[in-house]
Amino acid sequence: MSNWEKNVRKVVPYVPGEQPHEADMIKLNTNENPYPPSPKAAEAIRRVAEEDTLRLYPDPTAAELVQAIADVYHVSTKQVFVGVGSDDVLAMAFMTYFNSDKPILFPDITYSFYDVWAEEFRIPYEQIPLDENFCIVPEQYFAENHPNGGIVFPNPNAPTGVELSLSAIESILQNNPDVVVIVDEAYVDFGAATAQPLLEKYENLLVVQTTSKSRSLAGMRIGYAIGNEKMISYLNDVKYSFNSYTMNQTTIAAGAAAIRDVEYFRKTVKKVIETREWSKEELKKLGFSFEDSKSNFIFATHKSVPAGKIFQALRERHIYVRYFEKPRIDNYLRITIGTREEMQTLFDFLKDYLKEG
Ligand code: PMP
Repeated sequence: MSNWEKNVRKVVPYVPGEQPHEADMIKLNTNENPYPPSPKAAEAIRRVAEEDTLRLYPDPTAAELVQAIADVYHVSTKQVFVGVGSDDVLAMAFMTYFNSDKPILFPDITYSFYDVWAEEFRIPYEQIPLDENFCIVPEQYFAENHPNGGIVFPNPNAPTGVELSLSAIESILQNNPDVVVIVDEAYVDFGAATAQPLLEKYENLLVVQTTSKSRSLAGMRIGYAIGNEKMISYLNDVKYSFNSYTMNQTTIAAGAAAIRDVEYFRKTVKKVIETREWSKEELKKLGFSFEDSKSNFIFATHKSVPAGKIFQALRERHIYVRYFEKPRIDNYLRITIGTREEMQTLFDFLKDYLKEG
């Protein structure tokens, strides 16, 4: 190793799920929405392109987008932070709030980026095992049981899809008054309860959401956090110390339009939930089992055929699902809910494949 390399920060990167591009593929591997975003988002992008403003810098405060989020969620604009996907928001939040010598806590089966950020920002961390039903055990996060420098978990959890109840989340907050608790609600719109009502009572709570899933805008990269004003102002200080222009003009306009189109959002989410519930029944008939999912994916294991084998067979047929080679979950597939037609194709294939296998 050259001398200069010795001083290079070494981290193990998390490369997000594969992004294949094949004409005939069925893409059920990265929890995108199978339906297009609100047509109002496309209109907004066209408007921005036609107005002669792209040569100018965007509004660093992304006021139009922040206002839309504040209006739709009935909070003040000072309670809203926006970033380039919730990955960006979460990374900024890690940097801002997790500044203690004590380890931050998150589940041992969870979103793969948490340990990457913790490593990158030199934040000590400890991963708390889920119980046998893949549930988060709230007591394990209480400061008296596990002295900690902060807490983060997705609700519903990923990649399991399992929801943690609001009362359990509240118990975690009650028992951690001295640290920031981040609830990552990337999938909350598909049937779980948001922790937003707890914001009034707990000033150390930050709720993070995204337009990537329920609003079909993964390609635009828009995430946001809602918290109390003090919490958000700390987050903005960190953001503006790095790069004030993270949100571009088209992102701001399209995001605001999609957020405001609540009717379209509800309709799309309802379709995904209906397909998920039907898919659960179909998977059961095929010999799969899973914990109840409140997200836009199902984390399923088959009674006799190993997940890795099914994954490979699906791949050859250009049906992409997600498989994690990690202890305890290496016999599971995470299947994103696609359109009804896509799911039917998946089930038809599985029916034949599992019969032969
Ligand atoms: N949190 C969780 C739990 C996720 O699964 C994802 C998406 N992979 C994200 C955050 C980040 O999503 P985005 O950056 O697209 O908002």
